[in-house]
Amino acid sequence: MSCIFCKIIKKGIPAEVVFENEDVIAFKDIKPIAPVHIVIIPKRHIASVVNLKEEDEILMGKLIMTAKKIADDLKISEKGYKLLIRVGRGGGQEVDHIHLHLLSGGNA
Ligand code: AMP
Ligand code: ZN
Repeated sequence: MSCIFCKIIKKGIPAEVVFENEDVIAFKDIKPIAPVHIVIIPKRHIASVVNLKEEDEILMGKLIMTAKKIADDLKISEKGYKLLIRVGRGGGQEVDHIHLHLLSGGNA
């Protein structure tokens, strides 16, 4: 298995996990571009938004609800933050396991 995020899910490589449940895991980005930079991913491997199926609708909602919960925990909800999904190489996606970036502070 070559997917780096699947390795993080299986604890094959370390990550600073900030939230985890049966469907979703969230961890600090290894190369943060903002003071708050969390990556939120489904535990099921889906490469990209391009590969989403109708039945993935609820799972994608869970990613956003996880971002909201983490933002509340970090007390950045009032100040505001950015949620970002890159899609494909042209969209800047480098890791082919769908993920939501939670960014706040700095120039994010
Ligand atoms: P993207 O360009 O949207 O595919 O974002 C991939 C993100 O994953 C980048 O911000 C990377 O810094 C981050 N990343 C890659 N490998 C790791 C890792 N081992 N632990 C945490 N974040 C990672
Ligand atoms: Zn994966």
